Amino acid sequence: MDFGFSEEDEGFRAEAQAWLAEHANSSTDRRTWERALGKAGWIGIGWAESGYGNRTATLTQQVVWAEEYARSSAPPRSGHIGENLLAPTLIAHGTEEQKSRFLPPVAAGAELWCQGYSEPGAGSDLAGVRTAAVREGEGYRISGQKIWTSLAHEADWCFVLARTDPDSRRHHGLGFLLVPMDQPGRIEVRPIRQLTGTSDFNEVFFDGAYARAEHVVGGEGQGWRVAMSLLGFERGVSTLAQQIGFAEELAAVVRTAVQNGAVRDPVVRSRLVRQWAELGTMRRHALRTLGGPAGPGAPSVAKLLWAGWHQRLGELAMQVRGAAATAGPEDWSPSAPYRLDASQQLFLFSRADTVYGGSDQVQRTIIAERVLGLPREPKGAL
Ligand SMILES: Cc1cc2nc3c(=O)[nH]c(=O)nc-3n(C[C@H](O)[C@H](O)[C@H](O)COP(=O)(O)OP(=O)(O)OC[C@H]3O[C@@H](n4cnc5c(N)ncnc54)[C@H](O)[C@@H]3O)c2cc1C
Repeated sequence: MDFGFSEEDEGFRAEAQAWLAEHANSSTDRRTWERALGKAGWIGIGWAESGYGNRTATLTQQVVWAEEYARSSAPPRSGHIGENLLAPTLIAHGTEEQKSRFLPPVAAGAELWCQGYSEPGAGSDLAGVRTAAVREGEGYRISGQKIWTSLAHEADWCFVLARTDPDSRRHHGLGFLLVPMDQPGRIEVRPIRQLTGTSDFNEVFFDGAYARAEHVVGGEGQGWRVAMSLLGFERGVSTLAQQIGFAEELAAVVRTAVQNGAVRDPVVRSRLVRQWAELGTMRRHALRTLGGPAGPGAPSVAKLLWAGWHQRLGELAMQVRGAAATAGPEDWSPSAPYRLDASQQLFLFSRADTVYGGSDQVQRTIIAERVLGLPREPKGAL
């Protein structure tokens, strides 16, 4: 298999690099940045067939763009939930009206989205969602609570998995509703403060929030099918970009180990080499699964590999720094707000990697049942 890039792809890379070098700035306000990306045509570059995308890029060029983005000093994307999760779902299941209403503002970086799936009693066991959507006139009134809703505090819209049939159970009788967030008194977003001091996700309370009936994707009662299809779009291209970020984090840990002498410890050396070798394996695994339909367990294998790898890197970063890892950044003073340096952030944030997007235990169950053919978990356990 040829993992090289063609001349055309390298031309595309040069264009992406030049644009990012001119415009990327980690301190740009995230909303302004999304609009700049949209205006320059860098959002939705893989949606050509839908007729709603921006420039047309091949799968390889999408990888190139993701790689260059990860290498640049551009801020983290706040539009990725709309671009990478909602948009492909609408392209697959949406009506023409839904596509023409919602895809252009995503491609323009003008409307941001959040994902309303998890609830206090429904995380791994998502079919336990209790948020209710009751029919009223030309729409639905939504009541209930979502939790861990990333970027809800910035989002204009939320896709909500809710029960449209009050008598239904489990994955039946659900709807996938597109809900505007600007509904004062009917939607309340409460930030969840994390161990890192930041608040990237929220609790979201719906108290009679309104969604229009024509904004139910896939039809009433089809919410589970649409919701699962959306989860399937968290695939290879973004994984490759993530690995560029991983490579840079690993390089920083190696630099620290060389500078402070930790590299002389054979255990540290061995662990660093192991991280490097495993990163190469993950890259090849991701490239291989881009080429065509992956086996039923491939996304679970990929998730298990990278989540564990990233957590071990965070632990190694702390080991390499030794006691210094427990102190604040060098330029920090006790009167300044609590702040973490890059390696402390890596350690603390990576604790979540084995939870979101399906926990390690859930991935292992999928591999056990769908790949190895082991007996299924008792009904209702997942
Ligand atoms: C950083 C981050 C961002 C997130 N962003 C979003 C978001 O934007 N929108 C959203 O809807 N959700 C989001 N989530 C929520 C995420 O999807 C859930 O945390 C995840 O599904 C796990 O659910 P839970 O937290 O309720 O844990 P639980 O499901 O209660 O699991 C607790 C533990 O029990 C284990 N477990 C559960 N069931 C089984 C089983 N059957 N067999 C074996 N072990 C089991 C789990 O592996 C885990 O270790 C986010 C989470 C994180 C950490």
